[in-house]
Amino acid sequence: MLLELIGLEVAYGGIKAVKGIDLAVARGELVCLIGANGAGKTTTLKAVCGLVYPRAGRVYYDGDDITGTPSHRPVARGLAMVPEGRGIFRQLTVEENLAMGAFVRGDRQGVRRDLEQVFELFPRLAERRTQSGGTLSGGEQQMLAIGRAMMSRPKLLLLDEPSMGLAPLLVQRIFQTVQEISREGVTILLIEQNARLALEIAVRGYVMESGTITLAGPAAELLADPKVREAYLGEIVAAEPAIERDRA
Ligand code: ATP
Repeated sequence: MLLELIGLEVAYGGIKAVKGIDLAVARGELVCLIGANGAGKTTTLKAVCGLVYPRAGRVYYDGDDITGTPSHRPVARGLAMVPEGRGIFRQLTVEENLAMGAFVRGDRQGVRRDLEQVFELFPRLAERRTQSGGTLSGGEQQMLAIGRAMMSRPKLLLLDEPSMGLAPLLVQRIFQTVQEISREGVTILLIEQNARLALEIAVRGYVMESGTITLAGPAAELLADPKVREAYLGEIVAAEPAIERDRA
């Protein structure tokens, strides 16, 4: 396993946001963590990155216990996070933002190559390479945030709600690209409220509710699960008609 959470518990003062969850991501896997607003998904990611200190449980990354390790260390070891709200540098150009992602790398030629690769993945960014980040649309900023994370050559890419606030067509584009990045061998943990799209591209998924994992399994099984379909895919799952049942 590249990432393994065991009995992870995180609290904000008296509020338990994550209540002892187990979650694992194998090398090369694309795993999604879905759940409603406030379920504790972002807090889980923050615990992986060392942005919040867990009250209990362990975080293992690439064979090491990194529980509570300050965030810069895992980052230097190939863990990249694309936060909700993107967090790009508004004053810097697209190219400069991408260069910031490669800050910890020494291989200049490799950085150049990866820059071109990001521009291939996101042609829109190539067109706007000299524009400042703040002038980009929401979708382009999301592309830039993902591109910047790619520039650090991550082993593990953590994506927090890449679909947030984007028009459906752009969401499709972003998810296609996430799938392409996964095919290139990058391990991905994707956090999403858009359960359908996330489960369609992921190999496995976890469902989080009020700080606990309530369901886990292959993404195709979760997509077919009546509980998931009803609660997260907005479908009305046909139940036994009440009248028929009462008559029987
Ligand atoms: P979202 O989709 O909004 O990001 P989420 O599933 O990621 O939701 P979290 O952001 O992890 O959920 O929040 C889990 C719980 O912890 C919520 O009840 C939230 O109000 C609470 N919470 C999150 N951050 C803080 C904080 N800094 N201080 C206090 N409570 C917090």
